[in-house]
Amino acid sequence: SHIAVAIDGPAASGKSTVAKTLAKRLGLIMVNTGAMYRAVAWATIQHGVDPSDSAAVVAMLDEVEFSCGVSNNLSTVLVDGVDPGDALRQDAVNSRVSKVAAIPEVRSLLVEMQRDYLKLGSVVMEGRDIGSVVFPNTPFKMYIDASEEVRRKRRAAEGIIDDPTARDKEDSKRKSSPLVVAEGAVKIDSSELGIEEVVDAALEVLRE
Ligand code: C5P
Repeated sequence: SHIAVAIDGPAASGKSTVAKTLAKRLGLIMVNTGAMYRAVAWATIQHGVDPSDSAAVVAMLDEVEFSCGVSNNLSTVLVDGVDPGDALRQDAVNSRVSKVAAIPEVRSLLVEMQRDYLKLGSVVMEGRDIGSVVFPNTPFKMYIDASEEVRRKRRAAEGIIDDPTARDKEDSKRKSSPLVVAEGAVKIDSSELGIEEVVDAALEVLRE
């Protein structure tokens, strides 16, 4: 049956790059769960919904269809059949996403869609609660971290206007599924490591 590799960590810790590289090497589907929370945040913009008004956001979930799929071994997310594409990285999404991600109904909907990926194949899934909530029973768990300074520099180098540490602080306030080092997860600090070194460390975790 299919396996799940869970990769969690704060924003700009390097977990997406590692997840993508691992998935490619191992021929697994790479699932970016942040994109799903971003899709809900993007939908609130499209529908003029206040992301802090949880009742309005929950009502929106009944009106708007979110669907997930796979293209070239990468997860995709559609909002009423539309792929938001690069719009998921926009500033307005960055500033809304922590608010919608704090709503339990949003989380339960997306967690269910995340678990459904295992029907399609084995996955490398990255996010904040993959090892703790989505796949707590998988033996393959990693927590990728990096210093605040390195994380800020990485985002700046990508040319993205987003303070990852500010978003982490907002994320850390939520009561439902906060970012934690899941039980059994191996911690990898990527501050001083290149991508290859982090991937090697991750492959080592899978071998054990
Ligand atoms: O991974 P990324 O930085 O794109 O995630 C965007 C936001 O989505 C996070 O700041 C967090 O609010 C939310 N998120 C989450 N749980 C996940 C993945 C992302 O709450 N598993």
